[in-house]
Order: sequence, then structure tokens, then C-alpha cells
Amino acid sequence: MAYDQHGRKIDYIRISVTDRCNLRCLYCMPEEGVAWKPHDAMLSLEEIREFVRIAASAGFARVRLTGGEPLVRLGIVDLVRDIVATPGIESVAMTTNGILLPTVAVALREAGLERVNISLDTLDPAIFTQITRWGDINDVFAGIDAALAVGFDPVKVNAVVVRSLQQDLLGFARLSIDRPLHVRFIEYMPVGDASGSDGLGWSTADTIPNEELISLISQQAAEAGIGALLPLNADTSPKGWGPARYYHFAGALGTVGFISALSRHFCGECNRLRMTAEGQIRPCLFSDQEYDVRAALRAGDDAAVRSVLAEALAAKPDEHHDRIGTDRLMSQIGG
Ligand code: SAM
Ligand code: SF4
Repeated sequence: MAYDQHGRKIDYIRISVTDRCNLRCLYCMPEEGVAWKPHDAMLSLEEIREFVRIAASAGFARVRLTGGEPLVRLGIVDLVRDIVATPGIESVAMTTNGILLPTVAVALREAGLERVNISLDTLDPAIFTQITRWGDINDVFAGIDAALAVGFDPVKVNAVVVRSLQQDLLGFARLSIDRPLHVRFIEYMPVGDASGSDGLGWSTADTIPNEELISLISQQAAEAGIGALLPLNADTSPKGWGPARYYHFAGALGTVGFISALSRHFCGECNRLRMTAEGQIRPCLFSDQEYDVRAALRAGDDAAVRSVLAEALAAKPDEHHDRIGTDRLMSQIGG
């Protein structure tokens, strides 16, 4: 079992398998994509497998694959299968934009992937294309359908809330009523600097605090005759309770969650490390401190990999202390 110096059990690792993507979300990636890097800067699939084997032996039981877009990484289904089969690994999940799910959902499910989080920040087709620079929202809807059809459980839809986007918040929340979809609203975080030149220029003023969001949605729901959002507890919330607070509409098949990365209650429950596609371990999303595990992996030195993990664990801060910006973009960190 791995514990950090603040007594938190750290058994979850988010692994970025690529910093590339088939979309270019304005707040995540510049239009031209990621800067060219030599092929061997990235961990190979074999190196990721080795890392998971060693991390599992050090007490990391839960893995989430992310990116960039994990489904654009060649060999992703085989990687999922191998991670699922790794002794000590209890659960494997993925965060994806959903675009490629219609073609790979069946294979991923058969490979043992249990759950997916699908990112979707607007329900408006034109705004979706604007945010992603060229995406088609119908591909994401098809991805959500495919995820439910193959039985991923839970299927979560993550929406970053941005005040100036004027999203249809009730429309998102309603997605949880007729199907077992767990819609989660995530506070916008000014991570990296993708909002610059051609971005939307979103700032901290665009962050809508959760309390405000919950009362906005409850009010809209009441006006629409849907009824109030009712709070759930850890037993009635979807698997992977994590840092979200969950609610539901009476009789709904899914739930509505709220994640406040900026409030500090999040830090006290932190259970994770992150690894970038280049094999850099990040103890905290909001710190640019990184620990290189790639060299140890390439040297085939299990003990050295364990000691990098231990160093990263020891460096986990108690909280982010109001530092919310990072030098790297989310696509480079692995969101
Ligand atoms: N491509 C996959 C996807 O979009 O789900 C996985 C990687 S993406 C970096 C993971 C998540 O990070 C997405 O839900 C995205 O909305 C979120 N994200 C990216 N930049 C963000 C930011 N500045 N603030 C909050 N969330 C952000
Ligand atoms: Fe790609 Fe996900 Fe970043 Fe959008 S949020 S650019 S889909 S990595």
C-alpha cells in the first residue's frame, strides 16, 4: 500500500499514453498540435506495461489511461488488455473525447476496460466545432451511445464549465435522466496557456464555483418542472466516487456530479499520481515538479523505478496552495 507523507492512500495512477490528439480544444492544445519530439522521447507501449507492472507491485491498483487522446495511440487495445492482466491491477479506466469509440468500444470492452469518461463541453454543434476547431458533435454522441451499448459502467460525461460559453447546463444535467449517464461538471482551470492568440481568452473569471452551479441548475430544473437535484452519498454515487459531489433527479438512471478542482476539499482526498507520455511523474496537477521515470525504465532497473515513485509520493504537497496555473497544457500533462 502506498501512502504519502500526509497520510493519504495513493493507489491511483493516471497515465498519459500520448500528447497527440484528433481534436484541438482551444483551452488544451494549440491549433498546430504538439511540438515535434523525437520518437524515443515518448514511452513505448512496452515501457508503459513495465511501468504498470512495477507500480502495481508498489501498491497502485487503479489505472486511468488518458492523453492527449488515448484512442489515437496505436496498440491502445493491446495495452489495455495487458494492463488489465497485470497482477495487482484492480481497475482500468479511460478518459477520451469519444470520437473513436464507435469503432473501438467493443474491442476495448473485450480487452477488459471497465469505465470511460467522455469529455463534452457543449451541446451546441456549432460551438462544439468552434471549441475543438473542427470536431463534429455527432461523433461524440455516437461515442456515448457506443460506450453505453458495450456496457462500460459507469459512463461519465465530463463538461468543463466556462461562464462565457453560456452552456446549456440543464441540457447536460438532463442527459442523466433517461440513460445511466453520469454527467459531471468540472470547474474550468486556467492550465497552461492555450487561451492566448486564437483561443477564447478564458480567464479565472470564467470559473463558476460549484455552489453557484448547483443552485443555477436546481433553479432551471424547478422552472422546467423536473424537480430538485437531490444529494447522494458515497454508497449511492457511481463507482470511482473520487473528488466529485453527486446529485440526482428523482427517478433518473444516472447522476449529476460537481468537481471543484480549485477548492481545497479536493486535495484532502487526493489519491493519485500522474505520468506524462514522456515518462515524467507529476505529484500534483498544479505543480510543474516532475520526476523522470523513463531513464530507470529504459535501464530495466525495477528498484530505480520504485525509488522514483517513492520520491514523487514524498513530494506530494498537502494541497495546491492556490497555485492553479501550470506551464504545461492539459494535453501535455494528461488531464
Ligand atoms: N482527449 C481526452 C479527453 O478530451 O477527454 C483526454 C485528455 S483531456 C486533456 C482530459 C480532460 O482535460 C478533458 O476533459 C478536458 O476537457 C480537460 N481539460 C483540458 N484543459 C483543461 C483546462 N484548462 N481546464 C479544465 N479541464 C481541462
Ligand atoms: Fe484533445 Fe482532449 Fe485536449 Fe480536447 S481536451 S484537445 S480532445 S486532449
